[in-house]
Amino acid sequence: MLSTEPPTRYTLFMSTAPQKTFYVETFGCQMNVHDSEKVIGTLVHQGYSQVQTVEQADLILYNTCSIRDKAEQKVFHRLADYKKLLAQGKKFGVLGCVAQQEGEKIFERAPHVSLVCGSASYRNLPQMLIQIEAGKRATGLDDRETDECFETEFTARTNPHRGYITIIEGCDKFCAYCVVPFTRGKERSRTSESVLAEARQMVDRGYTEIQLLGQNVNSYKDPAGKRSFAELLTAVGEIPGIKRVRFTTSHPRDFGRDIVELCDHVHLPVQSGSTRVLDAMQRLYTREQYLERIASMKAAKRELSITTDVIVGFPGETEADFAETLSLLDEVGYDSIFTFKYSPRPNTPSLALDDAIPEQEKSRRLEVLMSKQKEIQIVRYRKYIGARAEVMVEGRNEARKQWIGRTSQNKTLNFSAPEGTEPKLGSYVPVSITASFPNSLLGEMVI
Ligand code: SF4
Repeated sequence: MLSTEPPTRYTLFMSTAPQKTFYVETFGCQMNVHDSEKVIGTLVHQGYSQVQTVEQADLILYNTCSIRDKAEQKVFHRLADYKKLLAQGKKFGVLGCVAQQEGEKIFERAPHVSLVCGSASYRNLPQMLIQIEAGKRATGLDDRETDECFETEFTARTNPHRGYITIIEGCDKFCAYCVVPFTRGKERSRTSESVLAEARQMVDRGYTEIQLLGQNVNSYKDPAGKRSFAELLTAVGEIPGIKRVRFTTSHPRDFGRDIVELCDHVHLPVQSGSTRVLDAMQRLYTREQYLERIASMKAAKRELSITTDVIVGFPGETEADFAETLSLLDEVGYDSIFTFKYSPRPNTPSLALDDAIPEQEKSRRLEVLMSKQKEIQIVRYRKYIGARAEVMVEGRNEARKQWIGRTSQNKTLNFSAPEGTEPKLGSYVPVSITASFPNSLLGEMVI
C-alpha cells in the first residue's frame, strides 16, 4: 500500500539558540513512512527542528522507494533539482531503498549529496549527522547480514490515534521480481517484549489502534522465543486501551490458521492466479495452497475482509495465465486489490528473464483486472447496506458535510452526524450504513 501522507511538524523542545532545520520527503510503503517517523524523531532528539518546505531547511532528506519502474532516475532528477540550493549552504541526504541500491554511485552522480543511508543503518544516524555537520560525507550501507533493528524511543508519529510498530525488518524470501531482500537486508525480528513495551507506551499517549509492520510480518520470530506472531497479535490486542490491531504485509507461505480469529482484515498478496507464474516468481506456494488459506479465512467465526496485491505482465505470463488471475478474483471476492504492471528491478532474479510482454499489453491486462475488481467490489460493498458498523472517526469533509470513518475491516465509511453532534477525531462511533460505492460506504451516525 502506498501512502502520501506528509509528515507533520514535530518539535520536542524549544530552544533560544537557532535550531538546525530539516525537511524530509517520503516515498513508498508504510515501512518507509514509519521509518521516516523514526528518522524524524531521531533528528529532533539531536536538536534539529522539522520544517515544511525545502527553502526553510538546512538539511534535506529524501526517503526513497525502488519498487516502481525508473525509481532511480526519478531520484537523480530530484537531486539535480536540489543542486541549485547548494549555494545556500544546504546539505542533502538520500535514505531508503534507492540509497541502499545505488550506494556510493549517488556521490558520483550527485556530488552535492552528503549522506547516503539504507534503512538497515538508520540506527547510526546520530553519528552520521555529526560527520555531515563537520562537512564530511557519511555513508550507511549495511550488507544483508546485519542482525540489528532500528529501535528508537523518539519516534515522531504523524497520526495521534493510529500508530505503526515495526516488528520485523528485511526479507529472506527473494521473490524473483523484488528488490526488498537486497535493500532491506535479512529478516530480523524484535523481541515481543520490546514490541509490547512500545505498544503500552503508545496507549499511554492516547493510541487506540496499532498496526504491526513488517515486509513479511507473519514470518515474525521472537528472538527471545516467548511468543509466536499470533500470540504477539493477541498480547497487543489485550493491552487495556487498545481497540484495534492490524498487521501488514503477510506472506501466504507463512500464513497460519491461528491468525484468522484475531483480526477483521487480512491483506494477503497473491501476485498471480497461475501456479506456473507463481513458480516463475519464486513465490513458494501454488494457487491451490493460496486458496486453502483463503478457505480457512472464510471458515472463521468472524467475517474477514480480504485484500491483495497483483502483478500483471510478469515475464512469460500468457493469456491463459492471466485468465487464471481473473478467475481467482472471482473465487476469492476481494474487498480491494493493489495492482502493478511488472517492471524489471535492479539486482533481482527476474532480470535474467525476457521481459517480452509489450507495455501496451501490460496496460490492457491491468485495465481488464481493475474493471473486473470494480464489478466485484460493487457487489461486495452493496451487501453492507442496512448493516451497522463501528468506525474510528478520522476526519471531516467540509465540502460534503460528512465525517470520515474507518471500520474494523479497514473500509472507509463516510457518515453524517445528527445536528449539534460533533464526533471527536479518534473516537469510535456506531454508524448505520445507507449506501455503497465501489471503494467506500456511506451512513448515518447512530446515537
Ligand atoms: S516476500 Fe517477496 S515481495 Fe515480499 S518483500 Fe520479500 S521478496 Fe519482496
